[in-house]
Amino acid sequence: MALDRFFPRRKPQVNRAEQDTPDLWAKCPKCKANIYLRELEQQLYVCPKCGFHNRVNPQKRADVLLDGPLEVWSGHIWPVDALEFHDTETYPDRLKRAQQKTGRPDAILTGRGELDGLPVALAIMDFEFSGGSMGSVVGEEIARAAERAAAEGIPFVLVAASGGARMQESALSLMQMAKTTIALEGLARRGLPYISILSDPTTGGVTASLATIADVIIAEPGALIGFAGPRVIQQTIRQNLPEGFQRAEFLLTHGMVDMVTDRREQRAELSKLLRLLQARIGPKVPAKSSEAGASEAGASQPAPQEGEHHHV
Ligand SMILES: [Zn+2]
Repeated sequence: MALDRFFPRRKPQVNRAEQDTPDLWAKCPKCKANIYLRELEQQLYVCPKCGFHNRVNPQKRADVLLDGPLEVWSGHIWPVDALEFHDTETYPDRLKRAQQKTGRPDAILTGRGELDGLPVALAIMDFEFSGGSMGSVVGEEIARAAERAAAEGIPFVLVAASGGARMQESALSLMQMAKTTIALEGLARRGLPYISILSDPTTGGVTASLATIADVIIAEPGALIGFAGPRVIQQTIRQNLPEGFQRAEFLLTHGMVDMVTDRREQRAELSKLLRLLQARIGPKVPAKSSEAGASEAGASQPAPQEGEHHHV
């Protein structure tokens, strides 16, 4: 093997296209076009031929949305098997596999970064980890990130990708719906914007709670968004469902989401929205006014001094 280093390598006799195929090209799951991986990457994993949005892992999401690196907040809380749940395998075994696959303790990445010069808190769900299901850790990390964003006086952006509540944590998972909702309410009380991006898929308890209570709800083109799956609904109401039911575009025409935005335009859209909302809502509202159960947005509250409520 070492001899290779002393002799110039002969040019491979393989057909170039054939040689490139395995690792340099990807096939679009929708239009079946072969796309050069580098081009797919440049297009933020959106098919340049048909616009299909491939799923993206949290780190890549953060890279795409932020100007620089994400200052990571999450990753210090680990899930436990409080119910000693056992289905086809034990919950700890299932967790271990997901942790090895994704390199994180649970299905969430949170942190702080700058988006087009604006400081933002970012929470990104990881569908690769147990279907992005929301158990105690996902809920806790999102709640902590929202509380920290409120304390630091910065807006909050969620990128949702989830199959819903985590079955293996049963009622503990369902409690996360209330916990995250309350934490996110804290942002509204401070007059801080909360924007959610619903990616494919966003379903179950995540749709039914934190993902759809944002000030602005953005959906990715073609994303499946819903509470129960189409089959369950069809069986329950005994009716055929309309074409495109539970897809982003259908939800837009029915008023469930505010906009459907191509991933390649999301960063610019977020920058515009955050600037608009901050200018409209005004700078953060003093924490005390919220305890009186007062007005939601506090549109005309005076601006506190920079860093006044900074949480150390
Ligand atoms: Zn395509």
